Amino acid sequence: MTFWSPSGRTVVCGIIGDPIEHTLSPVMHNAAFRDKGIDYLYLPFRVKSERVGEAVVGMKALNIKGLNVTIPHKVTVMKYLDKIDSVAEKIGAVNTIVNGNDVLTGYNTDASGFLQALLDRGIDPAGKKVVILGAGGASRAISFILAERGAYLTIFNRAVNFKRVKDLADRISQISTSEIQALELNRENLERVLDDADILVNATSVGMSPDINETPVAYGLLKSGLVVFDIIYNPVKTRLIKEAEMAGAITINGIDMLVWQGALAFEKWTEQKAPVNLMKIEVTKALEGNEK
Ligand code: NAP
Repeated sequence: MTFWSPSGRTVVCGIIGDPIEHTLSPVMHNAAFRDKGIDYLYLPFRVKSERVGEAVVGMKALNIKGLNVTIPHKVTVMKYLDKIDSVAEKIGAVNTIVNGNDVLTGYNTDASGFLQALLDRGIDPAGKKVVILGAGGASRAISFILAERGAYLTIFNRAVNFKRVKDLADRISQISTSEIQALELNRENLERVLDDADILVNATSVGMSPDINETPVAYGLLKSGLVVFDIIYNPVKTRLIKEAEMAGAITINGIDMLVWQGALAFEKWTEQKAPVNLMKIEVTKALEGNEK
C-alpha cells in the first residue's frame, strides 16, 4: 500500500461539533477517499458554540469543500448558510454543508440516510404504519422524512416531556397529509399500537452504552415480521435488537443510518458513488474496537 499524504491540491472536508473526540466520521470518510483514490482529506474540528459562525463562514476563506455538523450545532449553523435544502429547512436542522464556489448549501443526510438504510433493505415505508420512540433531534429528522414518504406515524415520548412529542406531531401535520399521532410512552399504549404496526424505530437513547441492559420495548411486545430499526450504534447490537431477532423480527441497527448519512454526504462532496460496504466495515471495526 502506498503512503498517502495531503498536498496543496488536497480537497479538505471535515466535521464540526463539541465534543468531537469520539466521532467515527473521519475513519469512515478517509477510508472511502483512499478506496476511491481521490485526493480528499477529512478532519475533526472541535468548535465551541460561540464560534460556529466563524467556522462556517471560514469554509469559504479556507476553501473547505464540505462539513458535517454534529451536536450541538445542527440548528445554529443554518443562519450562516447561503441556501438550505427544502427537507433540511422543514426539519429545522442541517448535518451536511457543501461549499460550491463559495455558495454554502445545507442538507440533512441524517434524514435521507435513515430512509436510504430502509430502502437498501428493500423496505419502503410509504403507506406503512410506523411507530417512532422519542421526540429528540434524531426523531425529528426521521419523523419528517417518513411523513414526507407517506408513512402513517405514531410518535411516543415519556409523559414528563409529552409536550415535546405533541409539538413535533403538530409541526409535521402542518406540512404532511399523513396521519400523525402523539402518545405517551407506556406499556399499554405501546401494546395497542404495536399490534398492527409494520415498523418500529427506537430514536430514544434507551439501551445506549453504558446502559446496555435497558430496552424501550418489552420482549413480549415484539413480533415476527415487524421491522425493528434501532438507531443506536453503540453498542452495535442493543438489547432491543437482540430481543427483536429472538422474536423473529427484521432488524436494522444504527450503523446503517450512520453509514448512509455519511455516504450521502460523501456523494455530495465528491460527485462519486460512495463505497458503502467499505464504510460500514470501517465503522464497525472502530466501534467493536471501542467495545473491547
Ligand atoms: P436527544 O435529542 O437527546 O433525544 C433523546 C430522546 O430519548 C428523547 O425523546 C428523550 O425523551 C428520550 N429518552 C432519553 N432517556 C429516556 C428514558 N430513560 N426513557 C424514555 N425516553 C428517553 O438525542 P438524539 O440526538 O435524538 O439521539 C437519540 C439517540 O439516537 C442517541 O442514542 C444517539 O446516539 C442516536 N443517534 C444515532 C444516529 C445514527 O446515525 N445512527 C444519529 C443520531 C442519533 P425526553 O424528551 O423525555 O427527554
